[in-house]
Amino acid sequence: MTAIEVDGLVKRYGGFTAVDGLSLAIEPGETYALLGPNGAGKTTTIEILEGLRDRTDGSVRVLGLDPGTQKAKLHTRVGVMLQEGGMYPGARVRELMDLFAALYPDPRNVDELLALVGLTDHQRSIERKLSGGQKQRLSLAIALVGRPELVFLDEPTAGMDPVARRTTWEVIEALQEEGVTMVLTTHYMEEAERLADRVGIVNRGRLLAEGTPDELTAGGGEIRLRSSDPIDPAALGQAIGRPVRDLGQGSVLIEARATPALVAEVSAWCAGQGILVSELRVGAAGLEQVFLEIAAEDGP
Ligand code: ATP
Repeated sequence: MTAIEVDGLVKRYGGFTAVDGLSLAIEPGETYALLGPNGAGKTTTIEILEGLRDRTDGSVRVLGLDPGTQKAKLHTRVGVMLQEGGMYPGARVRELMDLFAALYPDPRNVDELLALVGLTDHQRSIERKLSGGQKQRLSLAIALVGRPELVFLDEPTAGMDPVARRTTWEVIEALQEEGVTMVLTTHYMEEAERLADRVGIVNRGRLLAEGTPDELTAGGGEIRLRSSDPIDPAALGQAIGRPVRDLGQGSVLIEARATPALVAEVSAWCAGQGILVSELRVGAAGLEQVFLEIAAEDGP
């Protein structure tokens, strides 16, 4: 059985369509990252899966249940880390953890969980007084306390310092080892590359591309070339049959995946023109480049 199945999901707010016929399937144990620009419909989609928002159309199954009508049955099996935590801003960290732990039949040990997210020293702090990153970590701990088999993480490391971000990644990786299914949204491509088994890129409520980070970045890439001799980008582009951009200051960028043959061809062309190459750098396409290209093609 798939963990999550979404088919033709539509969400309209009045005349505005925030989610526009989205379909996806997530396997048990998979970590799936939804990427997309601000306002793409990621949070709306996740909140529909969590049962926090109604859908306008389409079908949704989460662990075989409909979150629209069977939310109560999902409650003990699903962990939710919201973008905005702080439902009891006056309560202390420890009190909140104990409160949530009591809601589940087999909760995780609260001390261990606080240590895991690095909040042991803040357990007597009042939620409202925590920093943004600390609130995020508390929200993560609350999402995990019931030993969920599926966890929703909406921008889990937004606003965290680099150390807290790495700690959070390690927590997520430990959950992956336990076989927990996760749906993640993030604006950090590095985070998606590190954590996600598969990535879906959404824009204007539609899924534009989907695959493993390797699949999505395959075929992309670049070669950067620098010389103190002038390089004519148009002539080079014509010679090698690839787009070449002038970056200024004696550098050009060849927008193509580097192969040994292409690098040799570029070098041979330079030699033929009497151009002494001072730097030739090969880069793989990152998820960020793929994301920017896909979003730009689709328009704002
Ligand atoms: P971000 O990366 O900024 O968190 P997102 O991809 O999560 O963005 P959503 O929060 O799902 O985007 O919002 C999608 C669109 O729906 C946005 O244009 C937003 O303004 C709109 N929207 C969200 N909630 C409501 C609402 N309750 N009423 C009207 N419009 C809404």
